[in-house]
Amino acid sequence: MSFKDIIGHERIIQRLRTAHREGRLGQAYLLHGMDGIGKRLIAKTLAKVANCDSPIDAYDNSRPVGTPPAGDSRGLSDACGDCHSCRNIQAETHPDYVCIRPDQSQIRIGPIRDLQGTVGLRPISGRLRFVLIDQADRMNEEAANALLKILEEPPPDTVIVLITSRPYAIIPTVLSRCQRIRFPSLTTTQVLRGLKQQGGGPQQSRRLAELCMGSLGLALSLEPGQLESDLRAIDDFLTSLNGLSPESIVRFAQQHAQDRETTERALQWIGLWLRDLLLIKLGHMGSLMVAQTPSPAVSAIAGFLRVEQIVALAGRIHWIRTSLIRNINRQLALEALLLQLRDEIRSES
Ligand SMILES: [Zn+2]
Repeated sequence: MSFKDIIGHERIIQRLRTAHREGRLGQAYLLHGMDGIGKRLIAKTLAKVANCDSPIDAYDNSRPVGTPPAGDSRGLSDACGDCHSCRNIQAETHPDYVCIRPDQSQIRIGPIRDLQGTVGLRPISGRLRFVLIDQADRMNEEAANALLKILEEPPPDTVIVLITSRPYAIIPTVLSRCQRIRFPSLTTTQVLRGLKQQGGGPQQSRRLAELCMGSLGLALSLEPGQLESDLRAIDDFLTSLNGLSPESIVRFAQQHAQDRETTERALQWIGLWLRDLLLIKLGHMGSLMVAQTPSPAVSAIAGFLRVEQIVALAGRIHWIRTSLIRNINRQLALEALLLQLRDEIRSES
C-alpha cells in the first residue's frame, strides 16, 4: 500500500508529502477523526515513504525521486510498497517503526517507558523513526505524563504520531505539543469505491456505504446479512418498547453490554433508528434511511415524538459513547437510555 492506493484525504496526503519532501515534517502529530477512515493507514504510509529504499515520483511511478517534473517544485514522492523497508514497515518489523496500541483497554506506562529508551538512540536505518500511538486516548495518566516528557524534548529524527477518534480525552499538555490534523469522514462514493476494491457486490456495497456514516473500516467490518438482521432486531425491539416489561429491557441491555464494541455498535444502530424518525418527521424519506420502507409502528412513533425529544435522546447516545472510555457501567447506561426512550414514547402516545 502506498499513497496512490489510498482513497480520499488527498489534501492531507499532499500536506504530509510536501512537508516530508521539504524536510519540514513535524516532530509530533495528532491525527483525529472517526474510526475507520484511514488515519493509521496514512501515518504508516508516511513512515514507508520516509524510509523507502526506492521511492517513486508521485506523478510518474516509473520515475525515481530526484527527477521531478520540470517546473514542479513539489516533486512529491511515494513509497514503492515493495522494498525491504516498505515490507518491514507493513509487517511492523522495521527497527525504526514503533506502533503502540492499548493492551486490553489501556495504554500503560510500560511501552512509553520503553519508548523513552528507544528515542534516545539514533534511527538504525539512519533515516526517520516513526512512532505511532494508536488509540492514544486510551493512555492512562502515567503513560500520558511519560509521553509528555518525551514531547517536551523532542528526539531528533523521530516523528511521533498520535491517532485517535477522541482527541478531547487526551490531556491538553500533550495535545498542545502536536500538530493537529482533522480527518473528515469519507463520502459515500469513496466508501463505495473501497468496498468495490475489496470485491463487494454493487447492491450490498451501496447499502453498506450508506449506513456506515463515512467509515470504510466500519463498512468492511460488517457482514451484510448480519447487518440486516441486527438492524431488524433493533427496529423490532425499539418499536415495541412501549409495551415491554422492565425485565425485557434489562435483558436487551445485558446482551449489548458484553464489551465496549458491542455497546458502541448497539448505540450506533439506535442512533440510526432515531435518525430515521427525524427523517420521517422532516419528510426526507429515501435512501438515507435505514428502513427503506418504514413500518407503520415507526411512522407512528415519528408522528408523536417531538424533534426536541429525538435530539435529546441522540445527545444522550453521544454522551454514553464519549463516556465509554471512562469505563462507565455500560449496562446501566443502556438501560437508562432505553427507559428514557420508552418513557418519551409512553408520555406522547
Ligand atoms: Zn519501498
